[in-house]
Amino acid sequence: MPRYEYRCRECGTGFELSRPMAEANAPADCPEGHGDTVKLLSTVAVGGAAAAPAAPAGGGCCGGGCCG
Ligand SMILES: [Zn+2]
Repeated sequence: MPRYEYRCRECGTGFELSRPMAEANAPADCPEGHGDTVKLLSTVAVGGAAAAPAAPAGGGCCGGGCCG
């Protein structure tokens, strides 16, 4: 089931919900109980909202075979 990001316009809380695509645009209540929320575009960068490149995880783990 896809996950969608929402943000509450009353308290600013961001939250995620897993719900069917058919309900992606249905109203979602914020965890604080507010109903004035907006759905965010999670994976698609629009306009100037550039996604930061994922930095490779450092550390010495993968040298020892513990990462598979
Ligand atoms: Zn809220």
